[in-house]
Amino acid sequence: MAHAVADHPEPIRAALAKLEALTGCRLGDPCAPLLLSVRPSGPAGSGAIAPAILNLGITAQVLPGLARGLGQRAAADLYRRLIQSYGTGALGVEDEAFEYALYDLMKEAGIESEEAFLSANLADLAARSLALIQSEGIGAFPQDARMQLAGALEALSEAWATPRARRRRLAKGQPENAPLSLIVQAMVLGLGAPPAGAGLFHLRDEASGARAPGGRYLADAQGEEALMGLRTPVMITRAEREAAGLREPSLEELLPAAVDCLIACAELLEARLGEAFTLDFTIAAGEVHILELRPARRSARAALHLAVDLAEAGAISRDEALMRVDPSLIEDHLHPSISPDARRDPIGQGLPASPGAASGELVFSADEAEHAAASGRTVILALVETSPEDIRGMHAAGGVVTVRGGMTSHAAVVARSLGRPCVAGTKDLALDRASGTLTAAGNRQFRAGDVVTVDGGTGQILAGRVEMIPPEITGAFATLMSWADEARRMGVRANADTVQDANVALGFAAEGIGLCRTEHMFFQGGRITAMRRMILASETKTRRAALDELLPMQRSDFIELFEAMAGKPVVIRLLDPPLHEFLPHGEEEMKDLAATLDVPVSQVRLRAGELAEFNPMLGKRGCRIGIAYPEIYQMQARAIFEAACEAGAHTGSPVRPEIMLPLISAVRELVLLKAHISEVAEIVRAERGEMVDYHIGVMIETPRAALRGADIAVESDFLSFGTNDLTQMVYGLSRDDAGRFIPDYVAQNVYEHDPFHSLDLEGVGEIISIAAERARSAAPAISIGLCGEHGADPLSVAFCEQTGLDYISCSPFRVPVARLAAAQATIRTAGRRAKSGHKAGS
Ligand code: PEP
Ligand code: MG
Repeated sequence: MAHAVADHPEPIRAALAKLEALTGCRLGDPCAPLLLSVRPSGPAGSGAIAPAILNLGITAQVLPGLARGLGQRAAADLYRRLIQSYGTGALGVEDEAFEYALYDLMKEAGIESEEAFLSANLADLAARSLALIQSEGIGAFPQDARMQLAGALEALSEAWATPRARRRRLAKGQPENAPLSLIVQAMVLGLGAPPAGAGLFHLRDEASGARAPGGRYLADAQGEEALMGLRTPVMITRAEREAAGLREPSLEELLPAAVDCLIACAELLEARLGEAFTLDFTIAAGEVHILELRPARRSARAALHLAVDLAEAGAISRDEALMRVDPSLIEDHLHPSISPDARRDPIGQGLPASPGAASGELVFSADEAEHAAASGRTVILALVETSPEDIRGMHAAGGVVTVRGGMTSHAAVVARSLGRPCVAGTKDLALDRASGTLTAAGNRQFRAGDVVTVDGGTGQILAGRVEMIPPEITGAFATLMSWADEARRMGVRANADTVQDANVALGFAAEGIGLCRTEHMFFQGGRITAMRRMILASETKTRRAALDELLPMQRSDFIELFEAMAGKPVVIRLLDPPLHEFLPHGEEEMKDLAATLDVPVSQVRLRAGELAEFNPMLGKRGCRIGIAYPEIYQMQARAIFEAACEAGAHTGSPVRPEIMLPLISAVRELVLLKAHISEVAEIVRAERGEMVDYHIGVMIETPRAALRGADIAVESDFLSFGTNDLTQMVYGLSRDDAGRFIPDYVAQNVYEHDPFHSLDLEGVGEIISIAAERARSAAPAISIGLCGEHGADPLSVAFCEQTGLDYISCSPFRVPVARLAAAQATIRTAGRRAKSGHKAGS
């Protein structure tokens, strides 16, 4: 119809004319009809979009001419495919309705497979499909080729703009109004004289990222039919077929040249475009045609492997490779796996849906998983199956178990992309959410809070916690990390209290210890008794006697730590928590303590009462303990100095300890404590004939300390932001209680995120910037770090880079996350500088 032709805007008409000239066919020409496909294509990562509409250009008028060229059967087949494709893609008829029409016809005609259809059956199917569209009353199938093209373009544009599609893009972190391209191509049929068919191909294994050509191919097919499950496709390579134990020859065995061509195309695309793709292809008359590229799906592990491979091949730069890996997923590469020697108590078996292993407390809802994670507990989320609403809970969980579902279930796909170990389809476990129980064979019941282990490698669920071994951190991971270390400006240290922590940290290439919380040492072994004796002492003399008992223990801890760190910086923080935390609370425990210490229970009760505080986190804690009882900090300082002498002598690497004072709010506190510590340094020097070279620094944890950054910096060798306490104090938010309501605050957008997880840049960030600026203006060379939990949060790390901090310190397992996040922050900042016209070093 003339008006439909005029409806095509000029650029489309011009492009169409070009295509017609190239192919020698014309849209709607009864003798040599041009057939077209319209394929929607969004920016990478915009998620599922509508399928292509295929075979446009066939009308009742064109059909006889088409049949002359291709044969009756192929022409009828193409026509019924177009009606279905246009009906679903442009007119919104349910695809299922067409599938039912096909199956009804198969039943009526007594035909078992689509291949057996005769041309008359296919013509009948086309007529039924047209009637189906008519009966749905949504619109008519256009018997004009140009109207078909216009209708397909319009419908696909509309599908891209629906509120649902917009929401889906937002959920994937894409702009709501991301642009859409519509690709109009001349059809390559994939039907007719063999070899003809369609499939998809990828060069990389989705789980590992390693080179492993593969995919699916279906003969006599178009578009995504190879994946639609109507007929069984074949594998692409022989290796894949053999691994799957299948007999049907693979495409490689049927048509080796086609597979060589696909491999060569994928390799070329990787080299030229610096990305791995899944290729949609059609084979017609034995020739391979690439129809579309989509960035290949990949797990977190595969993304890393691929980024390194592409950079090593020179397809992308090292900086680009670093920027492509999500630091928050790095941690998942590091999850331990179950030790081969561990005793296993299996309670269920499912599919190994996502690799890695984790132990944790059972929870039965995504909300519970989120709450538990907010309070620092590791949980295993057990559900019948997961849905998109559960993603946040899956993110929060250490591992996931589903009773239903297979390797491509929602749980499996999401867990793989999040890097969480997952076992899916554990049919031998019964889950009763109402009573919160998981029942295994032999009526073994597990309730919320019971610890289980998920082994995503074997698909086993085990009772209890199981011995784990550290993951492999070699190969591509080690390479990427070495590039991160070359790129980053900030140092990365670990928060490590024990020699075991220190060894994990060193394994992950921490450059030192940024925070050793000494109080943790007092809870170990028999030390708590000596500690309690010290706390219960009401006189300095008896307190000193108890401290003498603690001294050798502290000293040996420090020797171990210094020796493990072999000359790398070690920041030791003196005692921080309120003393009552070390005392027993229950009556029975008090009696036991009284008996152990050989004192009346009344004395224990009295002292515990004296130490109790209304607001312990704002009470006698941190450096206030050192001011009230100088002998406690002095014992710790002596242990540090003596250990430094001994470890230095053993290892040959001189130890220069960095002593850190917690919760300073006034410079006078620092001055007093420095004097106490230097007194001890002198005594040790006199005794050992050796002066330890030590530094004294301050933890900036109170708003006042931040504001007085200049005075404090003049008296300090270094500063370290304790952002856990600083967040608590800047917000006036109890870090121990906030977990109860922060999820509500985040849900209602009061806070954008939990400020204890990701630094509040507006408030806490501003006070850090003020402190750093004041400190640097008074003491330009002062070293400034950050050692709160934010030290491995990528957004917080980016802020530290912008603020010019010297290092970040975080828990040992998160050190690689911090190394990569720091590298990305440096690259981004350098990029920003270059864009705004600064020269390096200016
Ligand atoms: C801090 O407050 O940020 C900190 C690292 O110390 P702690 O968590 O031990 O209070
Ligand atoms: Mg603190």
